[in-house]
Amino acid sequence: MPFNHQTDSITVEQRRQQLEQEIRLKLGADIETVADGKIHRHRMPGKSCSNRSIWVWVSPNGDRAVFGNHVTCERYSWTAEGADLFTSTTGAETRQRIAEHSMEVGRARLERQSIVAETARLIAEEAERADENHPYLQTKRVLPHGLFQLNGALQVPLRDATGEIHNMQRIYRDGTKRFMRGGRVKGLFAEVGDRSSSLNWYITEGWATAATVHDVTGDPALAAMNAGNLMEVCLALASSAPPGVKIVIVADNDHRTQGNPGLTKAVEAATAIGADYVTPDLPCNHPGCACTDVNDVEHCVVREVNND
Ligand SMILES: [Zn+2]
Repeated sequence: MPFNHQTDSITVEQRRQQLEQEIRLKLGADIETVADGKIHRHRMPGKSCSNRSIWVWVSPNGDRAVFGNHVTCERYSWTAEGADLFTSTTGAETRQRIAEHSMEVGRARLERQSIVAETARLIAEEAERADENHPYLQTKRVLPHGLFQLNGALQVPLRDATGEIHNMQRIYRDGTKRFMRGGRVKGLFAEVGDRSSSLNWYITEGWATAATVHDVTGDPALAAMNAGNLMEVCLALASSAPPGVKIVIVADNDHRTQGNPGLTKAVEAATAIGADYVTPDLPCNHPGCACTDVNDVEHCVVREVNND
């Protein structure tokens, strides 16, 4: 019956348009959907070709869909208007598909992380030691300690509590910092000095702060690289520290930022592991002081002396 056939195909087309409109609305992406019961990955507009963060699953009859963005962890389900929930794909099958997809994404992430880790270890073996005249080290007035250098960028090795390298933070001449793409960061830290050499361990946010703390105290200083990673790093280090180790967190003091994230995260982490914390008393006496960490304060003092 040609009439019925036409009605059906319009309905299918309309459903597809409704769904694509919904995806546009929720995820901000124009996607051509395929109703085949398989998960399709798509590129987020404006992101690089390797970024395929959008995923869409549409039931073979086109009346149900689940879609999301695995980077932002958004996930939405959609049912076509008038779809018969009892005859369409069951919820159990949908859940199964999503569970399979999540595992696939998890596996892919671990695979990427292990490739990055191998590359980072290769850099640590092959790259030259950092040049103490590198502009970033000069600006921060610290020695290269255990850093490497490749194509003009400092390479800060990120380790787990066993000392294994998993990632590098690249610090470019202009001070821009980037981790290796797709590498693990959570719970990893940069080590300045040697943890086995002392029972006093300092944990800082940034690498330059760790370098300054180590220079001043002679004790090992471990940098979590950002405030959001302090908790994980503190937990990893506290649980693996030999008996007798005393951990002190040297907190950034983001006194000019709402909520003082540096200090807040440090206090949370210190509380979690029962450690002490210290933080610079800011602002310093230097007019226009923009210090947030111990390394900045060292410079502020130098500036003050030079200006006198
Ligand atoms: Zn200052």
